[in-house]
Amino acid sequence: MASLKVHDKEFVPYINAKEIGEEVARVAAEINRDYEGKNPLFIAILNGAFIFAADLFKQINVEAEICFIKLASYKGVKSTGKVITAIGLDTEIYNRDIIIVEDIVDTGKTLSQFLPTLEHQHPASLKIAALLHKPSATIHEIKIDYLGFTIPDKFVLGYGLDYDGLGRNIKEIYQLV
Ligand code: 5GP
Repeated sequence: MASLKVHDKEFVPYINAKEIGEEVARVAAEINRDYEGKNPLFIAILNGAFIFAADLFKQINVEAEICFIKLASYKGVKSTGKVITAIGLDTEIYNRDIIIVEDIVDTGKTLSQFLPTLEHQHPASLKIAALLHKPSATIHEIKIDYLGFTIPDKFVLGYGLDYDGLGRNIKEIYQLV
């Protein structure tokens, strides 16, 4: 795979489609095992998680539901530090087994602001599934229950993740040079 120019920046191949597929299948298998006989509600965070959520959800074989919310803390390649809720949660989560689906946990700010909102509504359980985690960028510690890849603190795009709107449709994950 060759390098890729998106807007003004250059990206190089980092995780290929086969590796992504294998990790998504492993995460799905863990969730299927842990939620046997339950009826979890997946809450996928838009925009970035839409492809991971779709690929993961297709492999869930317990009775499950999914809904989508939109939170954003990013503009360009730097976090603005602000969390904006654009589309709220309209599904009842009281007494439900909730699995949050996130594309990437970076500073942890987004989830640290959002999780208390969910906890106030007393779900039966609350777990996090994330495709990517950048532990060295942590400001707010988040416990990730189901994780695809641990990656260094470098900006990535592809597989749902964008750089200023572009790159979400790329099948592999690329890293900023
Ligand atoms: P956090 O609040 O944990 O710092 O950031 C979470 C959100 O920031 C992610 O859901 C994602 O939308 C965005 N983000 C963090 N790191 C990256 C990255 O390397 N690439 C892209 N495209 N988005 C990122």
